[in-house]
Amino acid sequence: MFDGLSEKLSGILDKLTRRGALTEEDVNAALREVRRALIEADVALEVVRSFTDKVRSRAVGAEVVKSVTPGQMVVKIVHDTLVETLGSDADPINLDAVPPVPILMVGLQGSGKTTSTAKIARRLQDRQGRKVLMASLDTRRPAAMEQLSVLGQQVGVATLPIVAGQNAVQIARRALEAARLGGFDVVMLDTAGRTTVDEALMTEVAEVKAQTQPHEVLLVADALTGQDAVNTARAFDGRVGVTGIVLTRVDGDGRGGAALSMRAVTGKPIKLVGTGEKMDALDEFHPARIANRILG
Ligand code: GDP
Repeated sequence: MFDGLSEKLSGILDKLTRRGALTEEDVNAALREVRRALIEADVALEVVRSFTDKVRSRAVGAEVVKSVTPGQMVVKIVHDTLVETLGSDADPINLDAVPPVPILMVGLQGSGKTTSTAKIARRLQDRQGRKVLMASLDTRRPAAMEQLSVLGQQVGVATLPIVAGQNAVQIARRALEAARLGGFDVVMLDTAGRTTVDEALMTEVAEVKAQTQPHEVLLVADALTGQDAVNTARAFDGRVGVTGIVLTRVDGDGRGGAALSMRAVTGKPIKLVGTGEKMDALDEFHPARIANRILG
């Protein structure tokens, strides 16, 4: 796994006693370890390839400064390239629009969508003083609607009253109207999930998006699903268009592979990370932390 990648890289390169510029041979030896570690962490192959190419072009020919060893030098280049690929700065949710600002939550069932909706609502309300309304658009699973109401009560955020027989677009319109009338700043729309990306799901989400013109479309993805998370991200971004990613289960023992792949494949920022089941287990995304986890 990723544990000790830094040490491995240093180990390989510090055997070099000569100083001067790093040669392609030195760098390739180190990159074999980097590639192996990334693949073990379930990073998408195309991302592994482009990442190692980027590191190679930066490292070959780089002069090893006196204060560091060749190994430390390569570790720094790998670290900096990781941070850059992951996105350098924390990217907050954009609420810069006339209220009520709609935020659409999309993703597969079980990814942590409903939990993340409530966590984000709580944070916007408690930390930023926004008045938030949440609505579940999951017409196929009454339990999902109920779950959002329960979480709403738990965190003290209003939820749209459940009315049987409405479709997702009708509920979304009702939510926006209720938010307007009630003087809410933000409306969070928790769309239905499926176990796989399918045409019906995409059509429904696209329709809700067209009707509500959300300011943010946040894709919720489970960090532990590795390459699947990447395929999901690609599908949602291609079909619906997402503005950011919420990565859940970062508290699990995944090694950051999904974060790296999703960011590289979609180019969309990871805005927040879920770090547990509790309602306050939500953090800003810190690229350097994930980079350190990857480097071990
Ligand atoms: P949804 O079907 O996408 O709406 O998923 P849920 O929000 O119902 O979450 C599914 C399960 O994952 C629940 O048991 C959540 O408590 C759990 N969960 C959600 N986010 C996280 C997280 O960041 N870390 C952990 N450990 N569990 C999470």
